[in-house]
Amino acid sequence: MIGRGNVTTVSRFSSQQVQFHFCAECREMTYAIFADPGSTEVAVVRVGLFKDIAAAAKPVAITNLEGESTAIARARRLKNWTPVVWLPD
Ligand SMILES: [Zn+2]
Repeated sequence: MIGRGNVTTVSRFSSQQVQFHFCAECREMTYAIFADPGSTEVAVVRVGLFKDIAAAAKPVAITNLEGESTAIARARRLKNWTPVVWLPD
């Protein structure tokens, strides 16, 4: 589980729609959050960071999101990413 208190540095890339959280120590991408205005927050976590479950994960599928519109990206994230549940500290 990744807690709110984990130290990450946050970057936003071209669309500015997604917060990409990188470990402040090793700079590995850890997770990304998309906050849909008026809706929910959804996130993806880099499964490879969790050795125990990485082996059981689905095969890797390479996708190219270059040129994807903001509306299509929003719909894709809301469909495929996991709703964020913030636990109390
Ligand atoms: Zn790290």
